Amino acid sequence: MTAEFTLSGTLGSARRGRLQLAHGVVETPAFMPVGTYGTVKAMTPEELDGLGAHIVLGNTFHLMLRPGREIVRAHGGLHGFMHWRKPILTDSGGFQVFSLESLRKITEEGVQFRSPIDGGAVRLTPEDSMDVQLALGSDIAMALDDCTPHPATEAQARESMERSMRWAARSHAHYYGAGREALGLETAPGELFGIVQGGMHLPLRLASLEALDKLPWKGLAVGGLAVGESEQERLHVLEGLLPHMPANKPRYLMGVGRPRDIIAAVLRGIDMFDCVMPTRHARNGHLFTSQGVVNIRNAAHQSDTGPLDPACACYTCRHFSRAYLRHLDRCNEILGARLNTIHNLHYYLELMRRLRAGIEAGDLDPVLREYLPAEDSKVCVA
Ligand SMILES: [Zn+2]
Repeated sequence: MTAEFTLSGTLGSARRGRLQLAHGVVETPAFMPVGTYGTVKAMTPEELDGLGAHIVLGNTFHLMLRPGREIVRAHGGLHGFMHWRKPILTDSGGFQVFSLESLRKITEEGVQFRSPIDGGAVRLTPEDSMDVQLALGSDIAMALDDCTPHPATEAQARESMERSMRWAARSHAHYYGAGREALGLETAPGELFGIVQGGMHLPLRLASLEALDKLPWKGLAVGGLAVGESEQERLHVLEGLLPHMPANKPRYLMGVGRPRDIIAAVLRGIDMFDCVMPTRHARNGHLFTSQGVVNIRNAAHQSDTGPLDPACACYTCRHFSRAYLRHLDRCNEILGARLNTIHNLHYYLELMRRLRAGIEAGDLDPVLREYLPAEDSKVCVA
């Protein structure tokens, strides 16, 4: 199955596209809910589908440690294991390994680390990451990269980026070659995306893009952002890099972020996003609404019989009051986490629908007015 990306329209730098994958079509700009352990926390696959998710993200690092690739493969891959029939993107596992600062050792070969589950020694090379992602059968797999720490000097960022580029070439060779053959597959189950690194240093970002350009990637990601940099630093990298990225390939900004960050990146030409924010915040009672973020734990909602967001058409807002949502949260009821997650995912996925419609209509002003307070729009609008 070959991925096919078609751009159907642009508005300034913003792009409206359609990404055909082995398990279906992803309309872009797209947001991918994060399903760390093979589940988007608190949601059934049918609920995700009903909310309008076209694609979800699975975490290679967690799934390779638990339950392990063989058990997932025995279900026909991650789609069968988690009963999700639409596209799945898997990350490479690198980001989580690099977060285990005290537990890892990086060599040219790959990363050695202690399993946070049982303390056993585990190795993750580009080839290992491809083997796991091939076994998971994701529609989009990601090359293993060396995650540049932030802040990093030019020399540190260069060394890390250059290693990432060597690992990217090894990832590509193994995913489409020996790794695929070892599983007896005639063609790879999905497609591999390369990742642009280089920290906050624009010349390194452009060198990374040039190195990746030597291989026929189906899509490219921008990695190494959402690591604690300022909004200005992030936008500086995106504005310097995006005009040089190939127009005919989908562009995925990894790990970003808040609604305003997504809007700012769409306006600069990003097509795909993932972030734990809507689901994690939901479980902590932080809810995104048309009137700003609501902390449902706040005493002000104790006797509020009105809906969480009168402008929202989600299941939660149609049927339940703020007082009820606060009550469920205080009693630690499972339904509270579920209703909050339904609302926050609806908010994000509705934002993406509105952005797509705005690009199609040639007018993003209504969606920007609705989703960006005036002070934010000065920073976000390109
Ligand atoms: Zn709602």
